[in-house]
Amino acid sequence: MPIDYLDKFKGSLLGVAIGDTLGHPFEGMLRDAIKSNFTNFEDFIINNRRLFNTFTDDTQLTLHTAQALIQGGGFNLHNFIEEYVKWLDDPPIGAGYGCITAARKLKYRIPWKEAASNSGGNGTTMRIAPIGLLYNKDIKALKSAAIKSSIITHSHPAASAGAVVIARAIAYLIDKAPKSGFSIDQFFDVVISSISNSHDEIWEEFCEILGKLRSSLDLPIEAGLIKFSQSGVKSPYFIEQYLGKAFVHPYTISTVVCAIFIFLKKINSFKDCIYELATAGGDSDTVGAIGGGLAGAYFGMKNIPDDLIKTVKNYKRILKISEKLFEIFKDRY
Ligand SMILES: [Mg+2]
Repeated sequence: MPIDYLDKFKGSLLGVAIGDTLGHPFEGMLRDAIKSNFTNFEDFIINNRRLFNTFTDDTQLTLHTAQALIQGGGFNLHNFIEEYVKWLDDPPIGAGYGCITAARKLKYRIPWKEAASNSGGNGTTMRIAPIGLLYNKDIKALKSAAIKSSIITHSHPAASAGAVVIARAIAYLIDKAPKSGFSIDQFFDVVISSISNSHDEIWEEFCEILGKLRSSLDLPIEAGLIKFSQSGVKSPYFIEQYLGKAFVHPYTISTVVCAIFIFLKKINSFKDCIYELATAGGDSDTVGAIGGGLAGAYFGMKNIPDDLIKTVKNYKRILKISEKLFEIFKDRY
């Protein structure tokens, strides 16, 4: 059966928003502490609706990224800067350091090269889904747009590498369907090759860590999160107190690797997948958003339960934005 790309666009952007919404109350908590609140997460959501009443910066910036692509008919630096500045009026919810400091400088017309922070945080990867969707048939353009969209706010190489990895993963998954599945080996080949041979130390390290993840998929989720929660993090940015615990660090490499790990461990159901992502521990909302974008691109909206979609604030607006982004895709490819 041919792929319903519009359904995949909607699924991926909703996936970001659902993961973000469900993970938001658990941002900054250890996985153990999160899990101690419930035995059944689904019941917990039903009984605590008010905890899950909003998404955060991850979804806000993902929607601004989509709007920038829609307005520019593809990547256009001017539209991106304008949209990330507009985000300041949303106003930002739970904003990360890298994005907010850069957006404030961009607002005062400081050139992006000076405005960008040197943060290696996950703030550029969490907003990348629209680029993976729009450019899924043109990987060269995908990589270029992912990097350019990232360096506007984050000059650290980990941030641009993460953006490329997740955009590429979404482009891969959009052509797969839960009925037929996909090859995990091929997934890793595609994702790792998107950032290999770069001659950049951090990008090379990212490839190595993805290689380690590839050979660690037998680990249970808890053990895998303990192993990868702070991968790639360098001194003095470690959270020493949480070393050896499941608490995903907001550094791009650790967040991306943990999100991919959980997604691949829970590949059989969107619901199971998003529940594990949003309760990962540490930067739970962003693990939810990044992994949710992957899961949504794979499952499509038709495989996302209605009650989860309705958990998202203004979900109808997200559907409209998905449709507009799809129009650009359809005109181009
Ligand atoms: Mg957030």
